Amino acid sequence: MKVLVINAGSSSLKYQLVNTEDESVLAKGNAERIGISDSCLKHTPAGKDRVELKAEFKDHTDAIKMVMEALLHPEYGVIKDMSEIGAVGHRVVHGGEKFSESVLINDEVMEAIRDNIELAPLHNPANIMGIEACRKIMPGVPNTAVFDTAFHQTMPKKAFLYAVPYEAYEEYGVRRYGFHGTSHKYVALRAAGILNKPIESLKIITCHLGNGSSITAVKNGKSVDTSMGFTPLEGVPMGTRSGNIDPAIISYMMEKKNLTAEQVNETLNKRSGVLGLSGVSSDFRDLASAAKQGIERAKIALDVFVYQVEKFIGAYAVAMGGVDCIVFTAGIGENTPEIRKGACANLGFMGIRIDKEKNNNIPGNTKEGIISTDDSRAAVMVIPTNEELMIVRETMDLLREV
Ligand code: ADP
Repeated sequence: MKVLVINAGSSSLKYQLVNTEDESVLAKGNAERIGISDSCLKHTPAGKDRVELKAEFKDHTDAIKMVMEALLHPEYGVIKDMSEIGAVGHRVVHGGEKFSESVLINDEVMEAIRDNIELAPLHNPANIMGIEACRKIMPGVPNTAVFDTAFHQTMPKKAFLYAVPYEAYEEYGVRRYGFHGTSHKYVALRAAGILNKPIESLKIITCHLGNGSSITAVKNGKSVDTSMGFTPLEGVPMGTRSGNIDPAIISYMMEKKNLTAEQVNETLNKRSGVLGLSGVSSDFRDLASAAKQGIERAKIALDVFVYQVEKFIGAYAVAMGGVDCIVFTAGIGENTPEIRKGACANLGFMGIRIDKEKNNNIPGNTKEGIISTDDSRAAVMVIPTNEELMIVRETMDLLREV
């Protein structure tokens, strides 16, 4: 069977068509600038060059129609008939407390995703548009929703509650939800596979370090704590997001600079993190080269980031009463040996050691592998994340259940 994976943003829509027989990617691409002028579809069929297709997408339905045209095209298409697509798996950002697992989409599920718009005003509306477009263009094809928050619904109350008046939780749903769940779940399962041990027997810390970063404690296969919270702003500093700060800074900044709540929110989300600290860039490649050139604030930004990552690793090792495996994933986690080295530098007292050579060149010339020393008490690994594949697998599991 072939499963189409859709990750719909407000003005873009990423897709992958995956053959479930061998989990190979048949084609992938991105519809850009939906609802804006000069929209286009960048489509890459497996083993062929990328094609750029110009078209006006006034909405997500137009974009999905164009995706279909590309998938069916005689030259750069990969299927002969739309009926070859057996299901569509959608990434949905916020499932709130309602969804602790992926689900087959029906009207009731759509309603519940709509109910969560308030919690994810930028993301859920776009996800809904993607689903509605697919339901319209491919009637009868099952759609599934795979939530970023679902994996973290196993957190105990002591981990997900904030110490604010309890009514904030009861009335407004103010609590830790956590994000990147699909990625954390994928790499945790993969780590158990590499160790050849049941995930139910392992304590794993997964570090998803990308433009957005989050760290999760996965005990016996379940998320028991995670660094992102009510929104994806909490936790370690990120490209442009502050991560944890003293909440009193917010009212202080509002008063000092006469800012509105929205302006502070914008500052903390878009002009903070390593960009705000360094004044150079939100991109870790730029920061690394600026630091090499001796730009002090770039060095500091990297130091602050690494320090917060190592603190979360330490905290989660204690929260779980030990750690068997630490995984690094996403753009920074997969590609930056210096960050991995820094984040693990102080773990020696726990018997955890990185092998310098393996950290610089992952064994076997692959992008995935163990980078700790043979005598390290916990395995440290690099595992490329694959949220799309996780969405395909969850979709297949749901289809098998019906
Ligand atoms: P997103 O959260 O948008 O999916 P990514 O996981 O792609 O983000 O991570 C983006 C970050 O990863 C950027 O800071 C970028 O500098 C870093 N990154 C990506 N590729 C590399 C690389 N080859 N070397 C160093 N850093 C990289």
